[in-house]
Amino acid sequence: MLKIQNYIDGELVEPVSGNYLDNTDPSTGQVYSQVPGSGAEDVERAVAAAEEAFPLWSDAPAAERSDVMLRIADLIETRLEEFARAECVDNGKPLALARSLDIPRAAKNLRFFATAVLHAHSQVHTADGPVLNYTLRGPRGIAGIISPWNLPLYVLSWKVAPAIATGNTVVAKPSEVTPMTAYMLSQVCREAGLPAGVLNIVHGRGAEAGAAITAHPKITTVSFTGGTVTGREVAKSAAPMFKKVGLEMGGKNPTIVFADAEMDRAIEQGVRAAFANQGQVCLCGSRIYVEQGAYDAYVERFVAAARALNVGDPLEPGTDQGALVSKAQFEKVGRYVALAREEGGEILCGGSPPGPINDRCKDGFFYQPTVITGLSAECRVNQEEIFGPVTTIMPFETEDEVLAYANGTAYGLAASVFTQNLSRAHRLAERIDAGTVWINCWMVRDLRVPFGGMKQSGVGREGGEEALRFYTEPKNVCLQKA
Ligand code: NDP
Repeated sequence: MLKIQNYIDGELVEPVSGNYLDNTDPSTGQVYSQVPGSGAEDVERAVAAAEEAFPLWSDAPAAERSDVMLRIADLIETRLEEFARAECVDNGKPLALARSLDIPRAAKNLRFFATAVLHAHSQVHTADGPVLNYTLRGPRGIAGIISPWNLPLYVLSWKVAPAIATGNTVVAKPSEVTPMTAYMLSQVCREAGLPAGVLNIVHGRGAEAGAAITAHPKITTVSFTGGTVTGREVAKSAAPMFKKVGLEMGGKNPTIVFADAEMDRAIEQGVRAAFANQGQVCLCGSRIYVEQGAYDAYVERFVAAARALNVGDPLEPGTDQGALVSKAQFEKVGRYVALAREEGGEILCGGSPPGPINDRCKDGFFYQPTVITGLSAECRVNQEEIFGPVTTIMPFETEDEVLAYANGTAYGLAASVFTQNLSRAHRLAERIDAGTVWINCWMVRDLRVPFGGMKQSGVGREGGEEALRFYTEPKNVCLQKA
């Protein structure tokens, strides 16, 4: 059985303890590879390698760093099919999605930041008096990167790319649930000639390898994407050392549909927002509010569209919905659907695993797209992140009422508004507490824009210049001219 290895100091190595954890294919429920169960001693070795690599890498011309990153992006693209298949098997997502979204986006992330640093600039402040201020921006040192299982290579590369482009070195820990494409990335980095120690990937459990990264005194920057509860632990561990911390966490994102919306689009995008990647995207629209006059028709059409989604073998071309990532996630979704019933919800479709898919997938963690109505805005199902193919639909009467619903959770990651009244759309966009508001669309991503959450969805922003700023330290130099 394949044993994934850590990537430390340019080498593929076993964990110091020799401990390995099982890695399961969620569409079959079977263990298919093993992943290092690394601990503090592996992180220590990775930090030593990152420390040694830092002087040369941070001093290298930006064009040199850029070139090697572009080679990595090219190699990922050359092996797109292999990467996509690995992501599909590791995560349960449809192969078509990994092929069209996850893997191309990883290559794009690398290209985007590899070229961004070629155009980076900093500021000069000329004063009235005889002084000139200018800002130097240098890399901060060793960055610790911790990423989740839902978009494994996509999110890992989204963080690694700006960190190394700006001259930092990195110790990264992908989710132990989906380690395969990070392992393949380490192979590609070796082939592309990334200098040893610039990127180190330590696989293992969050509570062990992850916690060792956030607690390490030489890791001065920590970028985390994951659940809010884990984010709190990361913040607690990093705060006493005054690390610079970026947290991208959970969401309970509202989709708001007014009666004047272009309905075909509001249905199509609403369904995509609810169920993309089996509802396991932090940006998923899991609470849908529809203006009273359009409510009945919207619910009817939405349910028909949800029923039409094909839950199937992720490797098959016609599959819209693959497996949930793990047994734990599958059970969590089941618990929330049971809770929805207790809270008075009516399950209009789904609410259980599908019938048999095929022999290969008979023990997989599949769940049907589920639509629930009849719940209050305050109930737990409408307040807590489920992170599965479950959405609720509720009616509203007025703009102020729906704004209160939209803002009425602890989260503030994203929202979508569907209306043809652009004044109303802009008004709401300004008043909704979310890091991203989409108008008449969902999850359209431009890598230049600030990305992140408000309230308990996050601290700081990623993307474009925000990421370049995050991984660099500004220094003001003040010069007396005369
Ligand atoms: P988790 O919070 O469980 O894990 C995220 C990462 O943190 C994993 O690598 C995990 O390791 C690690 N980890 C766990 N405990 C610790 C610890 N004590 N110290 C350091 N690291 C730790 O999230 P999931 O992987 O379950 O991902 C789903 C969550 O991610 C959802 O809440 C989702 O909303 C959020 N997310 C947010 C995004 C955003 O941009 N805002 C984007 C994508 C997802 P391990 O897996 O090995 O336990």
